[in-house]
Amino acid sequence: MNLLYNSTRNAEKKVTASEAILKGLADDGGLFVPEYIPKLDVTMDELKSMSYQETAYAVMKQFLTDFTEEELKHCINSAYDEKFDTEVIAPLVKVGDTYHLELFHGATIAFKDMALSILPHLLTTAAKKNGVTKEIVILTATSGDTGKAALAGFADVPGTKIIVFYPKGGVSRIQELQMVTQKGDNTSVVAIHGNFDNAQSGVKAMFEDKELEKELSAAGYQFSSANSINIGRLVPQVVYYVYAYAKLLENEEIASGEEINVTVPTGNFGNILAAYYAKQMGVPIAKLICASNENKVLFDFFETGVYDRNREFILTSSPSMDILISSNLERLIYTIAGQDAQKNAELMAQLKEKGVYEITPQMRERLADFAGGFATEEECAATIRKTYERTGYVMDTHTSVAASVCAQYRKDSGDDRKCLVASTASPFKFIHSVMTAIDGKYASADEFGLIDELSSISGVEIPNAIKEIRNADIRHEQECDADKMKETVKKILGV
Ligand SMILES: *Cc1c(COP(=O)(O)O)cnc(C)c1O
Repeated sequence: MNLLYNSTRNAEKKVTASEAILKGLADDGGLFVPEYIPKLDVTMDELKSMSYQETAYAVMKQFLTDFTEEELKHCINSAYDEKFDTEVIAPLVKVGDTYHLELFHGATIAFKDMALSILPHLLTTAAKKNGVTKEIVILTATSGDTGKAALAGFADVPGTKIIVFYPKGGVSRIQELQMVTQKGDNTSVVAIHGNFDNAQSGVKAMFEDKELEKELSAAGYQFSSANSINIGRLVPQVVYYVYAYAKLLENEEIASGEEINVTVPTGNFGNILAAYYAKQMGVPIAKLICASNENKVLFDFFETGVYDRNREFILTSSPSMDILISSNLERLIYTIAGQDAQKNAELMAQLKEKGVYEITPQMRERLADFAGGFATEEECAATIRKTYERTGYVMDTHTSVAASVCAQYRKDSGDDRKCLVASTASPFKFIHSVMTAIDGKYASADEFGLIDELSSISGVEIPNAIKEIRNADIRHEQECDADKMKETVKKILGV
């Protein structure tokens, strides 16, 4: 039986999983959601002994029901291979009293690799299945990590082009270097004069632009999205929560059926939504703890039921979480509205027009699985330093937001369930902030010097992703104003 997908703004029109992946965003501007969250059809005992790839198949086949076994296994095996620097793909590391699920062992050393290494394969398979002959143009807005991971995933993939927009000055130096040195004839990288929300809104507007769609179609192109609004990114992210729970069980860190909490450093709400889906599939997760940095729009939402983006945008040391419009939250809003697409569409219209909406008391009750927290810049730095001093383990700034919130939550709530922290980036990627948190004396040091220093104090080898950019040529130097993104895309494509 096929699991179908519909837009969060129109529940009538159904599409298959492969159609949803191809389209990225629904025509009405909504996000594709499965009609229901499927249950796991294997037991935890079976999952315990499975490899990452086997777990991925067990989870993804439940969602992507129009892919054949052969197709899906091919996608999985092409994605989770030597591009990762460890066979286990997503290692679990016990740090003090929490478990860090390290999601940064892929090509670009941030968790976006977990989904973006498989998305190109899902997308090209979906194109074949649906008889698409046009060239697929991936448009992506990035707060730093998605861009590079998408570029790495799509570089030189036949039948695709990828254009990435990032906010000039809004990403770390390492992130910027990773993007502007990207190889591949089908890749373009553009710095926009604006912040991430401007970039994301610009990309969304192009997806909704029917005129542009026609022009592109005439030229043999079709847009798709590698942003976390694409269901083809969300589904692969469910996998590692299932995998992590099974490994905790296998390592006898937890008892059979024991509930754990999960803390996720959150920006666009994709990663934590995947954890929520894992819970609904049957993984014994109690609380989903949503950790924000000083851009705490989600924390305020969980506290008050009001989502209000009308506030100052703060640049923090966890730039991949510097977001005021959390796109994937729409999928949760739709769910807690009782899958009421009209109600969701109303709220999203209010968000677009006024920048604010309030959910109903009944919807708030359905948020009981979630807890919100936030960490200030000082708290985040202190957690990095103290953890290093106590355990020798060095975490990145995003992970530190989650670790700080996890500790606060435990203290404030008295809930002492074991806690999994989604560790979303390698500390090498945010080297300057990480090293300065450990010791102020590093504040004025050069980034590449700090990389050697971090490797020496932590005993962790410098990742390939960093070695590669040390001497690489800059290949992309385009910039544009936030309101000129469409013109830039047309120029790149020669339309
Ligand atoms: C993207 C990103 C996040 C936020 O994840 P969402 O799924 O957007 O909530 C957190 N940490 C890092 C390092 C990231 O790259």
